[in-house]
Amino acid sequence: MNQYPLLYGQGYFELEQISPGQRLHPEAAQAFLTMCATAKRDGISLTAYSSFRSFHTQCVIWNDKWQGKRAILDSASQPLDITKLSDEQKLWAILRWSALPGTSRHHWGSDLDFFCPDLIQQAENFALVPATYLPGGSHFSAYQWVEEHALEFGFFFPYRDDLGATAPEPWHISYRPLSEQLQNKHQLHELTQVIQDAQIAGKTTILSHLADIYQHYFKQINYL
Ligand SMILES: [Zn+2]
Repeated sequence: MNQYPLLYGQGYFELEQISPGQRLHPEAAQAFLTMCATAKRDGISLTAYSSFRSFHTQCVIWNDKWQGKRAILDSASQPLDITKLSDEQKLWAILRWSALPGTSRHHWGSDLDFFCPDLIQQAENFALVPATYLPGGSHFSAYQWVEEHALEFGFFFPYRDDLGATAPEPWHISYRPLSEQLQNKHQLHELTQVIQDAQIAGKTTILSHLADIYQHYFKQINYL
């Protein structure tokens, strides 16, 4: 057993509900709710689209993508034909938009994806794709507000820029006082054990590239 199973989405820890179906670590929950109350005064109704996710939940997403039951998108947010991809190509394609189970920052209760139901346009098919949060997108005003104020509440954007691995995620914020500590405790050798023990699709391909995945898709983030 790993020393800190919760780092890999496998342990139980106390979570606080922030909205129906959405939970965060109590410290992050408090910070996010305080930020939401301040945003509301400026006319922005922030809420969580996705917050805590366990290893199991992330693994269901991963396996569905690997097995073609859920779309894998390219860098322009268009679905890829996975029958034309080798296992290694499939691995990198999935990692562009989905974390490997055990490396998701959503395991920690410190990170969440925000959106604003009020801002969704009538005919809009809302999706967490960069265009929604960029100039001209329905959520650009909310993104601008969060970008300007996040630090005051302890949040930062770990996937703000395209660093060549994980795609930019302007909706993903992280409560730094918590996530920084957890990231520092996360260990490649423990992750290796977690993957070896998991019912995960593409296990052999994952394990043969794990050090590379770890460096580029987990360690490499925008620190501030
Ligand atoms: Zn996210």
